[in-house]
Amino acid sequence: NAIVEIQNVVKEYPLGKLSVRALHGVNLDIGRGEFAAIAAPSGAGKTTLLNLIGCVDTPTSGTVRIDGQSTSELGDSGLTALRLHKLGFIFQSFNLIAVLDLYQNVEFPLLLQGGMSRKERDARVREMVEKVGLTKQLRQRPNELSGGQRQRVAIARALVTRPAIVLADEPTANLDSTTGTNIIELMREINHTEHTTFIFSTHDPKVMDHADRVVKMADGRIVDDGRGAAAGVA
Ligand code: ADP
Ligand code: ADP
Repeated sequence: NAIVEIQNVVKEYPLGKLSVRALHGVNLDIGRGEFAAIAAPSGAGKTTLLNLIGCVDTPTSGTVRIDGQSTSELGDSGLTALRLHKLGFIFQSFNLIAVLDLYQNVEFPLLLQGGMSRKERDARVREMVEKVGLTKQLRQRPNELSGGQRQRVAIARALVTRPAIVLADEPTANLDSTTGTNIIELMREINHTEHTTFIFSTHDPKVMDHADRVVKMADGRIVDDGRGAAAGVA
């Protein structure tokens, strides 16, 4: 079965007495180990979709299943646990903690998750930092690093808990083209070696070229699921 299963998902946001329908019955499966891009013009519902997959929010109707578990059946603590154990997040503006150094930023999700000794955490943090090529910068803070280096730290942080799925919202949007390509290639390498599923949004055709699959959205619908058949179109 797919690691992400989205069935007939509608998402509405209240707007005074009315509501805004951001997703109009979305169906989408993402297989284990896929490296999938989501391409959508602004306002198409991409952030809403990523928030539903990321267990930040739940659908108005329909189901979102992560590794077989329906997110609508979980309360806040269940959603938080799912986020901590199964998901990793990468953002366009990196979202590192400014007062922590590189090592502490990468260690942070392991501390939130709990259950590992200091020695186990240390080994895992160093392994990830080496994987993203920043061993020499271990004690530097985010403001001492370049944009590309910051995004490498964010990748190490997203992967340190060995999540099944990494969600990346426009991970290259704040990077120059060469640095952005390097970041996508690093994500791709981790996808191959760790078998982590990646779902990332992007506007950049060069970034989409690296994907196994490009899912296209417009007006709250999936107009091309990247598998040769447009969802909902006979
Ligand atoms: P995208 O990320 O593709 O730009 P969003 O998912 O942010 O799209 O938004 C899709 C639609 O839903 C837009 O019309 C947006 O204005 C609306 N929307 C998103 N979040 C909210 C919210 N919290 N409250 C009201 N409307 C929202
Ligand atoms: P993006 O950079 O993906 O286009 P947006 O600017 O659409 O993101 O949205 C940023 C945040 O604001 C999201 O969390 C979204 O849910 C929220 N949002 C978007 N549109 C609205 C809206 N009309 N009312 C309230 N919140 C909104």
